[in-house]
Amino acid sequence: MSWDKEVDILVVGSGAGGLLSALVAAENGADALVVEKEPLWGGTSATSGGGIWIPASDQAREAGFDDNPDDAFKYVRALSADNVPDANIRSFVDNAAEMLRWMGEHTPLTYCAFPYPDYHAENPGGSPTGFRTHMPLPLDGKPLGKDVETLRFASPAASLFGYLNWHFDETYVLLFRQKGWLPHLVKSLARYWFDLPFRLKSRKDRRLTLGNALVGGLRLAMNEKQIPVWLESPLTELVEEDGKVTGAVVEQNGKPVRIRARKGVILAAGGFDKNQSMRDENAPLYPNARYSGGIAGNTGDSIRAGQRVGAETMNLQSAWAAPVFYVPGEDRGRLCTIERALPGCILVNQSGERYLNEAASYHIVGQQMAHREAEHCDASPTWFVFDHRYRHKYPVGPLMPLVPDWAQNGMVKTILKKGSTLVELAEQIGVEPAKLETTVARFNEGAEKGVDPDFNRGDAAYDKMYGDPSVTPNPSLAPITKGPFYAMPIYPGDIGTNGGLLTDDRARVLGQGGNVIPGLYAVGNNAASAMGESYPGAGVTLGPALTFGYLATRDALGIN
Ligand SMILES: Cc1cc2nc3c(=O)[nH]c(=O)nc-3n(C[C@H](O)[C@H](O)[C@H](O)COP(=O)(O)OP(=O)(O)OC[C@H]3O[C@@H](n4cnc5c(N)ncnc54)[C@H](O)[C@@H]3O)c2cc1C
Repeated sequence: MSWDKEVDILVVGSGAGGLLSALVAAENGADALVVEKEPLWGGTSATSGGGIWIPASDQAREAGFDDNPDDAFKYVRALSADNVPDANIRSFVDNAAEMLRWMGEHTPLTYCAFPYPDYHAENPGGSPTGFRTHMPLPLDGKPLGKDVETLRFASPAASLFGYLNWHFDETYVLLFRQKGWLPHLVKSLARYWFDLPFRLKSRKDRRLTLGNALVGGLRLAMNEKQIPVWLESPLTELVEEDGKVTGAVVEQNGKPVRIRARKGVILAAGGFDKNQSMRDENAPLYPNARYSGGIAGNTGDSIRAGQRVGAETMNLQSAWAAPVFYVPGEDRGRLCTIERALPGCILVNQSGERYLNEAASYHIVGQQMAHREAEHCDASPTWFVFDHRYRHKYPVGPLMPLVPDWAQNGMVKTILKKGSTLVELAEQIGVEPAKLETTVARFNEGAEKGVDPDFNRGDAAYDKMYGDPSVTPNPSLAPITKGPFYAMPIYPGDIGTNGGLLTDDRARVLGQGGNVIPGLYAVGNNAASAMGESYPGAGVTLGPALTFGYLATRDALGIN
């Protein structure tokens, strides 16, 4: 084999797990290269909340939370799929805190433990008080220089007006219009608009928050180490010699470039979020690529490349399920996290019936919607129903409070349904009016007392997390009473697939009979998740992606 380029570690994909893998290589004296298919780097990771689920971290201990890996293991083990080996879960819970410590020491990132309850906090080993989810502090993106221009934009759900990056804490200030929210907003807008002359060049906010902060911080550290990221360079094939993966072929300007990887190839190229035929074949419960919140480049290329060199796969039927809004013309669904838990709204199927606890985690609601649709064909879309009071108090996906209906974006107007009465609204959304009235009346009866006898909304620790603290006795429940009434369609979607290549506890890819394929690693959504089909808490996709990236590189370099 003749090679065009040689490195120690070749990383495929520039999401969080990929960038950290490359950084670990360089920090240990190895020569690393990241190849990225898209013209923008950062992957879905850049568009994410940047939250990472890390049990028993130093930060949690400092915050007074006495956590330990054994409790986390018990908690994840019970939720994860049976076919996920104990060793993979064990490896994650035992190494996550060390990875986070390493990341803090080798990058400008600061992660803080948050009081964010686990999604199944009531289960054995679960944490109702949180402190396993960690969020990054905002970061100045200016030192990234030109690289900030090719950093993927934050998700519209994680930025204001589609451009202003927003830190997690600030969400509450704005959402509940807490004291000082307006000066805070004005100051933030001024900071953005006075970022001259960058403002003339790009819409990008150089104050990096959430997922932008995560990948931005990793890239800043990589730039210090001069690790190249080749954009528009998709992996097309892995190169195997004598049963070992020794490199890969990427395409640049239509031409193949052969790259030798002396120590290993780390696949970090995401799931098959946007590959419709792979979904049709493997994940019929999550049939629609359009509703995935994953980015367009994630088409399972490196899962298939792995299979071609004999890799096994696991749990390809699974996804990080989530309810999503879909604005016509956009290339992905917008994750619906907070809105469902706020008081004064419900979700109803096409018969006008509630069928779930709206305030549960997005994964649980996404899975319930997907199952409902598969079994009854009446949940895609489901209708997000709210009243005038809710409309002007809280945001609903792309719909902004305080902004009048006529001033909303044209595409948003096409999906927003409105009626001066519930009967009129029901007619707009094709639901039997009497049924919708009955559903709302029953919901209101309980909501007035702060109870939900049908689905226990607002009882679990997680439900209250996104409730409105000014609403009592239940921050997630208020009656829907004041017209005009509104509805928006919401779909069973996902924020990425999470089945993939079968790996062991050091992220080594396994072939037939569970044999290690030497030289090949997979992390993030490229690999079958240690979480199986579950979503134990906020950050369980990125936490393991980073942890297994850390372990993969160390294994490839022979570091224990
Ligand atoms: C709105 C939103 C919020 C979220 N918030 C969180 C959160 O707070 N915490 C959390 O844990 N998870 C969150 N997630 C999920 C999380 O973002 C993803 O699960 C995670 O980013 C996946 O990481 P990855 O490295 O596997 O893939 P990605 O970050 O998507 O990176 C994969 C990269 O590989 C590239 N690629 C694909 N094919 C090739 C190829 N052939 N050659 C080279 N490169 C290729 C892609 O272009 C992409 O850049 C969120 C998702 C969304 C949509």
